[in-house]
Amino acid sequence: MRPLKRQSPPGRAGLAKQQTKGRGLHSDSITATDPVQRLLDRLEGVRKVGGGWIAHCPAHEDRRPSLSIGGGDDGRALLSCHGGCPAAAVVAAVGLELADLFPRRLDIGPMTSEQRRKVSAETRTRRTLAALNAALPMIALVEVTAAAIADGEPLDEQDTELVRGAHQRLQELRLAVQGGMA
Ligand SMILES: [Zn+2]
Repeated sequence: MRPLKRQSPPGRAGLAKQQTKGRGLHSDSITATDPVQRLLDRLEGVRKVGGGWIAHCPAHEDRRPSLSIGGGDDGRALLSCHGGCPAAAVVAAVGLELADLFPRRLDIGPMTSEQRRKVSAETRTRRTLAALNAALPMIALVEVTAAAIADGEPLDEQDTELVRGAHQRLQELRLAVQGGMA
């Protein structure tokens, strides 16, 4: 049987150039997903080897894993089939495109005032919930103490100290939340 190993997979440098061209990069773009993970998720027999991975090449009859996968410095996925399959054929075989090998950027255009309002309302809600969450133990403490007072139970010095601390923190939180809603 002829060994699968053949010469030189298609060059990556040329591919990279081709892909970055025409890709609108904005300073406020964010990277949404990891291309290496996106690729690995779709491959069979993935194994970690050194700084990268090997897997069965989906583009040819591959009994011994002959597809090397690695991650580039800029987050792109690098792949090389030792059977000689072009990268385009490999990604196509798992339902991806060459562009999927590169970090995806979500371009955020200028927001409408409606969108801005929505985002800041969501931020406020998130902050309020976080503050409330942080306050829960103190609320519980004050609640228990209030119940004790209502039942006419005397508070010892330690209880009083705890309640004083809780009162202080709750007041700070209330002011912070009110400030956040202003
Ligand atoms: Zn292959």
